[in-house]
Amino acid sequence: MAEDKKETEKIARCAMCADMCKYSCPTYLASGRETVSPQKMARLIAYNEKSFLEDEKNFLDLMFQSAMCGACSRHCIYDDYDLRKFIHKARVKAFASGVIPEDVRKRVETFREFGNPNGERELIDRGAGDIGYFISCSSYRDKDLLKATEKMLSKSGLAIRRFGGGDMCCGAPLYYAGDMEGFRQASLKMKAEIEKKQVRGVVVDCPTCVKTMTEMYRHAGIELDVEIMHTVQFIDALLKQGKLGLRKEDRSVTFHDPCILSYDLAMCGTPREIITALGFNLKEPVYSGEHTHCCGGTYGAKIGDHRLKDAVTFMRLNELRDTAADIYVTACPTCKSVLSEINMKYITELVAERVIAKR
Ligand code: SF4
Ligand code: SF4
Repeated sequence: MAEDKKETEKIARCAMCADMCKYSCPTYLASGRETVSPQKMARLIAYNEKSFLEDEKNFLDLMFQSAMCGACSRHCIYDDYDLRKFIHKARVKAFASGVIPEDVRKRVETFREFGNPNGERELIDRGAGDIGYFISCSSYRDKDLLKATEKMLSKSGLAIRRFGGGDMCCGAPLYYAGDMEGFRQASLKMKAEIEKKQVRGVVVDCPTCVKTMTEMYRHAGIELDVEIMHTVQFIDALLKQGKLGLRKEDRSVTFHDPCILSYDLAMCGTPREIITALGFNLKEPVYSGEHTHCCGGTYGAKIGDHRLKDAVTFMRLNELRDTAADIYVTACPTCKSVLSEINMKYITELVAERVIAKR
């Protein structure tokens, strides 16, 4: 009860705030619509809790217009507050009442049938070793990334078990849809798969997978007994251990910080160290590092509104293009695919291009 009171106070505090964080909110910046700004969202959440809203369907629809990026929480004047928690609570309610955007509903249905949001069937399980490399549903669809990963892993000389592919997903699409029972089942399936592999650590390309398999699983009462590591941490360790020989290069690279990697995992420095260690000249967009902007994500995963998602993507593409770099690089397979118009690469591809065999 005391906890509920504290939560109500937090949302009321946000609903009355000066809303300066909206200048970091990609959906507000891309659309100019006040209703999607953090404070206005909070105000509607607070009104809804008091049953002041006449059109609840409209309200629940609006809850699917946040990119769930975390920029507002990163720039919030309160340390103990994350608006996404409240938006997610409203999504759980929307899911229970069946008021979810069409794309979100389709993704949930596909997930239920195939165990992943893309309707893929192939299950990858090859190699042996006490380190696992989880091929997320988004990495699985990216053949260039898979090829680059194979090249990098084989040059590293480490024994690594690859698993995942089309038939496995951390469950994040269900979490964002508000389907908490489905999410729990997906987390339990992932836990069982990892235990079967008997690995001591798992490397993952997707920042959302990393956040999901740690923080979100914990919230659902599921704890994995292995270390979950993002690919940039793994590459960084390989470079520091001298396991990759590298040719130097002098073209320029702009790094797009994926929102979850920056805001939730606080990994802005590592990818930049890798890029400069590879010999590239690093360029920065105006919004970068801990001030990055979300790419917009995929339809129905986070933002459930096509036009709003496209506006966010358009804004980010222009910010990146303004740097006029030779190469654009990121560390999230979804960002790579969403920002494909500027020939975005995943950081592993950059490593694989530069790597030479160590004697
Ligand atoms: S998220 Fe934080 S800074 Fe933004 S409006 Fe709410 S309380 Fe204010
Ligand atoms: S999570 Fe991102 S998109 Fe949603 S309100 Fe906060 S800053 Fe805006």
